[in-house]
Amino acid sequence: MSEQVVAPRIRGFIATNAHPDGCAANVRAQVEVAQASLPGSGIGTVLVVGSSTGYGLSSTLCACFGYGAQTLGICFERPSVEDKGASAGWYNLAEAHRLAREQGRTLETINGDAFSAEIKQQAAETLQQRLGKVDLLIYSLAAPRRQGPDGTVWNSVLKPIGGSHASKTINLRSGAIEERTFDQATDEEIADTLKVMGGEDWADWVETLRANDLLADGFRTVGYSYIGPKATQAIYRSGTIGHAKEHLEATALELDARLSADLDGGAWVSVNKAVVTQASAAIPGVPLYIGILFKVMKARGLHEGTIEQIVRLYRDHIAPGVMPSTDEGGRIRLDDLEMTPDVQSTVDAIWNEVTTERVGELLDYDGYQRDFRQLFGFDIEGIDYDAPTEVHREL
Ligand code: NAD
Repeated sequence: MSEQVVAPRIRGFIATNAHPDGCAANVRAQVEVAQASLPGSGIGTVLVVGSSTGYGLSSTLCACFGYGAQTLGICFERPSVEDKGASAGWYNLAEAHRLAREQGRTLETINGDAFSAEIKQQAAETLQQRLGKVDLLIYSLAAPRRQGPDGTVWNSVLKPIGGSHASKTINLRSGAIEERTFDQATDEEIADTLKVMGGEDWADWVETLRANDLLADGFRTVGYSYIGPKATQAIYRSGTIGHAKEHLEATALELDARLSADLDGGAWVSVNKAVVTQASAAIPGVPLYIGILFKVMKARGLHEGTIEQIVRLYRDHIAPGVMPSTDEGGRIRLDDLEMTPDVQSTVDAIWNEVTTERVGELLDYDGYQRDFRQLFGFDIEGIDYDAPTEVHREL
């Protein structure tokens, strides 16, 4: 037991603590949306890789609470140790597990390195022993590095390819608009980022399930990708991370060919919209873009967070009996509203105009910062942040 008053420790895009009650409230709000929007049953067993925060957390909650699926999540989170609190993802899942128990639903979590053979094997054993063959695998990993079985470490970098690039950014500590130049990636950095964020590990997960006879008839799998605007193109889509996403998308096509032939199943990439997550806050230019995008989409009544996006993904594309609608590259496009010409041309004009003095007027910067603090359970209505709270929470 360790009751503490938990005050935010956030600098720029790094937060080093989280509020357990705030994270729990976030999860309850997402579960409410999932239960109000989805049928409550209909999918047997779901495996989510990257289940504790962002898009993967919403995918886990939609599976468990929106479709009554027996759900297994894989994540890499920090539990509390002595008087040091846990990470936000841990607190998120602690509340998801508590709610699942309360509602008689099945949710299990394996906390460990999803890239490793040990964790894949542990997942296979859990499925064989308790949860059964997998109907749906969601691959939502956003990782800074990957370690191989022999100890080799590959780091993912966010750099342009083929030349350095100068871009506007927002300094998340001061709120100032700055011009920063990003050096071009080396060939090794390009290859390493692909190793971490490309499709190889996703395919390995599918192979582990296949080797253990854990692919249900009609098995479907979805990995998450992003394209984004002109303004972030050099760093994102045409940069190291975009190169890895192209590999993820090519992997989807390869998996799809095999799964549709063997199991009447399928594999797709879903291109999701830009939202505030731990992963997106670290990408140069993306926080500035999101601040502008939120202002524009909120003004048009088009704003969505991860849960609204993932509800649409399940309901309109991947629920049993529904065939995904895809673009010419075979991709599901949940970023359809973000990428409308009207939204994009407005965002682009603001991007060119914005200066430090006009941040308050042209960006939803307050909304961005609030969303960021809320990822860690801070700034949530109804939470008494002056009251001590138990920082040890069990899954
Ligand atoms: P996030 O940082 O919120 O979540 C990442 C998840 O991966 C967490 O559950 C974390 O525990 C898990 N993880 C990281 N390393 C791990 C490891 N080694 N082993 C096990 N689990 C590990 O990220 P996010 O923004 O939700 O991104 C998820 C996916 O969605 C990514 O593919 C990302 O590119 C994509 N996406 C994100 C956005 C966005 O704006 N955030 C937009 C479109 C697509």
